Amino acid sequence: EIDATGIGKSFGTFKALTDVTLTIARGEFLTLLGPSGSGKTTFLMVLSGFEPPTTGRLLLDGRDMTDISPEERGFGMVFQGYALFPHLTVEENIAFPLKVQRRGRAEIRRRVAEIIEMVGLGGHGHKRPAGLSGGQQQRVALARALAYEPPVMLFDEPFSALDRNLRSQMQDEMRRIHRETGTTFVFVTHDQEEALTLSSRIAIFEAGCLQQIGSPRDIYERPGNRFVAEFLGDIN
Ligand code: ATP
Repeated sequence: EIDATGIGKSFGTFKALTDVTLTIARGEFLTLLGPSGSGKTTFLMVLSGFEPPTTGRLLLDGRDMTDISPEERGFGMVFQGYALFPHLTVEENIAFPLKVQRRGRAEIRRRVAEIIEMVGLGGHGHKRPAGLSGGQQQRVALARALAYEPPVMLFDEPFSALDRNLRSQMQDEMRRIHRETGTTFVFVTHDQEEALTLSSRIAIFEAGCLQQIGSPRDIYERPGNRFVAEFLGDIN
């Protein structure tokens, strides 16, 4: 479980996040939803450890992790630009973090084979990223992050560059992978439909403030304030 209490983040005089308090249960699929510039990515970066918060504390299973480095947190991250190693094959890209962790050869081979199947890349293991479609590259990025079984996976609009069909296919896969791994997923999007169909809970951000958090049903049936109601109303 992650407990964030009073998280604030300022860039100079600009407040990107103000007093965000929320709990993320182990194994849940939490989506951070909100308009552009509302602080979603900044909150994800605070969770990852890459941006230290200006105020507030973060606990992981009761242990203070506010000042712990991103490497020590070891959260898996999947972002828009997949940042794959172009000179390495799919298998080598996925094996990379396992090698850094000095896992044994046999274990690496077994884990890479298993994860390639899980993300639907069977038969593509020997290709290089340039020989793959955008959707397949995104799968490699996902596989690489999942390979070392991080306690928490962070996603920042991973499917925004994909076309509609591929996007909905990837969403189905995400749901399945979340179920199969039981890992905590924190997912940033500004796409309401995506948030609605994927998440166990949604956290709505506006101007750096958490406006409401709850199940998709709660939020759609009982928007907590006018901003939430109008933001959700935009799709209708
Ligand atoms: P988007 O959906 O467009 O990615 P977002 O909700 O993820 O938006 P953030 O990227 O968290 O929003 O940005 C929140 C605000 O903080 C924005 O106004 C942004 O310009 C500002 N901001 C983010 N990072 C920095 C930084 N390193 N330096 C200065 N300002 C920043």
